[in-house]
Amino acid sequence: MPKPPLLMLIEQPDLFGLAHIGDHYDLRAQPEPGIVAAVSSGNGVDAAMMEAAPDLKMIALSVVGYDKVDVAAARQRGIAITNTPDVLTDDVADLAIGLMIAVARRLPQHDRFVRQGRWPQEGPPALARRASGRRIGVLGLGRIGQAIARRAAPFAAEIGYYSRAQREEGEAYSYHDSPRALAEWADVLIVAVSGGPDTAGLVSRAVIEALGPEGTLINIARGSVVDEPAMIAALTDGRLGSAGLDVFAHEPNVPEALIQLENVVLVPHQGSATRETRAAMGQLVLDNLAAFFSGKSLLTPI
Ligand code: NAP
Repeated sequence: MPKPPLLMLIEQPDLFGLAHIGDHYDLRAQPEPGIVAAVSSGNGVDAAMMEAAPDLKMIALSVVGYDKVDVAAARQRGIAITNTPDVLTDDVADLAIGLMIAVARRLPQHDRFVRQGRWPQEGPPALARRASGRRIGVLGLGRIGQAIARRAAPFAAEIGYYSRAQREEGEAYSYHDSPRALAEWADVLIVAVSGGPDTAGLVSRAVIEALGPEGTLINIARGSVVDEPAMIAALTDGRLGSAGLDVFAHEPNVPEALIQLENVVLVPHQGSATRETRAAMGQLVLDNLAAFFSGKSLLTPI
């Protein structure tokens, strides 16, 4: 049987657990008539692409956040979309906690200090900050936000959260009814909301200033959620203490001003990037495609 054509928009399939996808599908790099299914990750699928592939009926995303897909255009054309929730939750939460500790204890800065041979010459570096015993505010108590709160619980002084309404899962944590109120209360603000137009700039200049000179901002959600220029300005002049960032407004480009700052830890969007999780995400993409092509219910439709 001929392999069905598949629009493959992931450039390095091996990094997404999809090294062998070509065994099952005839991979095409460009949209064209006759293609009924597409696979994508962070680069998304826009309306022009759907126009160029008029027979498209299914988009299997290898991400949980679908902010880069024109969902309204897809719905209008009757195109189903699947994503990869849950299987990546633990990894992203681990990274959030890792970033929080790395920022407080200055792990990358200290690593550079040793490598640069500065220890024998300068003696020990300046003191870091405690990672434990702080007030941790989780912005968005979804799947990943809840996993972050669970991990933070044993060593946080207290955990607070903001969601659009109080959540049952947040019973053990204090609720704050706006991002600003949460930032005012928290020592560490961990951003875990979805991306997209509705949350663009949710972490505004006012929220950043409420977090303050002793505060730490951790973002593992999407770069769009934080007002990046305001964050850089505040980190530069001390109105915000420090930041740990996995995501940026214009990835893979990171502003030079941010790269030059010593009070930040920067990671190139690695939230789900472990061999184990990418294998699980790849399998879920393949399972969704198989369900689609055999007319069964999709496993994880959005
Ligand atoms: P989820 O379970 O759907 O949770 C989404 C959260 O976003 C919920 O807390 C929800 O708030 C909040 N939210 C959605 N729209 C909002 C709005 N308009 N205003 C305020 N809050 C809003 O998703 P998840 O699995 O936890 O994933 C969360 C996000 O993490 C993803 O969308 C993605 O952008 C990001 N992510 C990043 C990486 C990475 O590699 N760094 C990997 C995976 C995911 P309510 O509680 O009010 O409903």
